[in-house]
Amino acid sequence: MKNEVSAKIFSEVENEKENLFSLIQKLIQIRSYSGEEREIVEFIVSEMKSYGFDEAYHDGFGNAIGRIGNGPVKIMYDAHIDTVKVTETEHWAHPPFGGVIENGKMYGRGVVDEKPAMAGFMIAGKILKKIYGDNLPFTLYLVGSVLEEDADGYPLYHIIQNEKIKPDFVLLGEPTDLKVYRGQRGRMELKITATGKSAHGAHNQKGINAIYKLAPIISEIEKLDKKLKPKNPLGKGSITVSQVISKAPSVCSVSDFCQLHLDRRMTVGENKNSVIKELKAIIKKYKSDAKISVPDVEGVSWKGTHFKQEAYFPTWVFDEKHPLVSAAMQSSKTATGKAKSGVWSFSTNGVATAGHFGIPTIGFAPGKEELSHSSKEELLLEDLFKAAKFYSLFPFVLTKNDQ
Ligand SMILES: [Zn+2]
Repeated sequence: MKNEVSAKIFSEVENEKENLFSLIQKLIQIRSYSGEEREIVEFIVSEMKSYGFDEAYHDGFGNAIGRIGNGPVKIMYDAHIDTVKVTETEHWAHPPFGGVIENGKMYGRGVVDEKPAMAGFMIAGKILKKIYGDNLPFTLYLVGSVLEEDADGYPLYHIIQNEKIKPDFVLLGEPTDLKVYRGQRGRMELKITATGKSAHGAHNQKGINAIYKLAPIISEIEKLDKKLKPKNPLGKGSITVSQVISKAPSVCSVSDFCQLHLDRRMTVGENKNSVIKELKAIIKKYKSDAKISVPDVEGVSWKGTHFKQEAYFPTWVFDEKHPLVSAAMQSSKTATGKAKSGVWSFSTNGVATAGHFGIPTIGFAPGKEELSHSSKEELLLEDLFKAAKFYSLFPFVLTKNDQ
């Protein structure tokens, strides 16, 4: 016997297919670089209102938030609607803000990372509100988050911490090529700082060179990167010296200040404490007095809201048997005919929801992660249609209201 809930939902999504495609086109045509999202946020909020959402507004940070339903289980769908910039050196075969469709594919900045999810969420909300009115058995928040490209995690951190919306489950719209993604490597930034004593270059024996203090440490960090072991399912962490800064009274003097900037990707079992411990061991080996610190990331949203957070974005991963992952796999099977799981290589807003708050989080969206931030971004429209079916059905499967 055919499942009634999914049949009813899918036939409504089918009716909205053309609206879905024109909505993604509109979202692509509104340029929304990080920090410049006002126009797209206002567009999304007004569309949500016209679809009859129970609530639609932008929050104190500038995120677009829509809500449908008032049920006990709170589910949050998040798609960041900011994009990275189009640079002059990129070669785009189609205008990046044209929303050009050719042979069933759409091209443009953000068609992978990650506006399609937002279009899919909005249409899902529209049809669920239409079918169920005030009788939805769950609460579904549809978030268009801002500034994610500059501050992964912060927009959702803000919603949970300052707007007091605490979801039980989160679904992210970062590209997964219609697979169920269940984790990502974490990342952090660190600085190692050494000070010395300046002296004239002609009397360098009187000085202590801060650069020389860090030289063996740089070489140990290079070796450490090669020693890091892969762990399932996230693979291997990494450590990179991304910048070296030094200061001296003049270029004819001994340098009395040297600072390294490090990028650290963390796999399963690696966290802030373990990363700092590793570096402390290296510093101790050379009896160095160099200091380790974790810098802050800060900025301002389009609404003028200032934010600041430590540059530590924890690793997170959920087991394939986790109820959220299972429900997503089942929904994927029903909506797309396939069910595969995977993980992201890059970082997402999950660093806040899953990493900081421990809220079960997954991802599902069209598009290939490796095309993100490139002039090759392309979207198979039929995949967006499948994703919209998934987004509409998933909350019912998750809350066991799908029969
Ligand atoms: Zn993204």
